Amino acid sequence: MASAFAHIVVPAVTYAALKGKRFNIRLLVLAMALAIFPDIDVIAFKFGIAYESQWGHRGFTHSLMFAGLVALLCSIFWRQLRSHPMMIFVICFVACASHALLDAMTNGGLGVALYWPFDHERLFLPFRPIQVSPIGVKAFFSEWGLTVIASELIWVFIPGIAMSVAGFFARTKYQSSYHD
Ligand SMILES: [Zn+2]
Repeated sequence: MASAFAHIVVPAVTYAALKGKRFNIRLLVLAMALAIFPDIDVIAFKFGIAYESQWGHRGFTHSLMFAGLVALLCSIFWRQLRSHPMMIFVICFVACASHALLDAMTNGGLGVALYWPFDHERLFLPFRPIQVSPIGVKAFFSEWGLTVIASELIWVFIPGIAMSVAGFFARTKYQSSYHD
């Protein structure tokens, strides 16, 4: 995994750029939860499921199929979310799938089962600058944790803040010209 903080950057950036009646705070909270959700699979270790199993860490929950199914499920609740099913689907899919892609940019562990269930191969992106995050909170408070924070600052947070600012200005400019 990249750290949970790094994963929630993606929904935060999309919110900065697309905030509006349909992309409201409820949907943002859901998207942030979904950006972390795939790592629920670390419980597989507790059940003795091997890391490299399709049901193990970075397995099926780190696939595009899983992101699609979760997004579809969430879009059913468009009334509760006070949004549009299509908007919910897109935002939730991006949040959940971005988790796998960020993990695929880390420099350690196994790759992600991006094309599960069609292909169980564990994949990395060609560009892997992010220091892999330790599994578990305790290990995070170590020198390793500091290295992770430094690497995520450079590769995730700073680009994320830059994109949020750009997205914010693009959105407000578009909205003000839209209202004129
Ligand atoms: Zn993960």
